[in-house]
Amino acid sequence: MSRAALELKDVTRVYTAGGVSLTVLDRVSLAIQPGEVVGLVGPSGSGKSSLLHIAGLLERPTSGEAILAGEPGWRLDDRGRTALRRRTVGFVYQFHLLLPEFDALDNVALPQMIAGVSQDRARAEAARLLAQMGLSQRLHHQPGQLSGGEQQRVAIARALANRPRVLLADEPTGNLDPQTSMQVFQALFELARTEGVAALIATHNLELTRFMDRVLALKGGGLAERTAA
Ligand code: ADP
Ligand code: MG
Repeated sequence: MSRAALELKDVTRVYTAGGVSLTVLDRVSLAIQPGEVVGLVGPSGSGKSSLLHIAGLLERPTSGEAILAGEPGWRLDDRGRTALRRRTVGFVYQFHLLLPEFDALDNVALPQMIAGVSQDRARAEAARLLAQMGLSQRLHHQPGQLSGGEQQRVAIARALANRPRVLLADEPTGNLDPQTSMQVFQALFELARTEGVAALIATHNLELTRFMDRVLALKGGGLAERTAA
């Protein structure tokens, strides 16, 4: 038995548009262990987002399987797959999509409350995660009162609030300046490590890959391990 938190096995994704078939992912396999932070690089259009969506059980592969915490997700019916996704995956996007009327604490507490955690416990966990992201002085700020980097750190805390086994981040610092990107990324890296989450992070920013455990590069539909920059 593998103890990988996330595995992709022979994932192929073919898009057909306007009578043209495009093989974006061609039998891609990978395994990420708990606590491991892995970068996913490749030019725009190389399939990074497609790979993350398949891994997160949001987009069906043409063939192949995504295995989360040992469970093959694409073999399940819709309901089983949604349950597995909710239990095991946290997402971070380039644009944070925080709820503007709620403060940082409740943005992180709400997904837990939706999952059935009491308000008190959800807020206590949210405060703990936000403190780890260096935001203990910002619990009651609304997103509009936070800087871009602070907002993105709130979004990372939110993605980790339901204790996922896997964190999937799609260019999480894509709209931040280089120095802020580095701060946000270091916070993400530390939190993934301390929480034992397997993180797969698509990024254009090769500077950021320096601190990752491994870097995978997508090119021509295939995945190659790169030595970190
Ligand atoms: P990246 O995130 O690396 O920029 P994407 O995974 O978004 O790459 O896209 C990879 C390729 O797949 C692109 O060439 C894109 O045009 C194509 N593609 C993505 N989604 C679709 C879709 N729904 N239909 C057709 N082609 C798509
Ligand atoms: Mg993309």
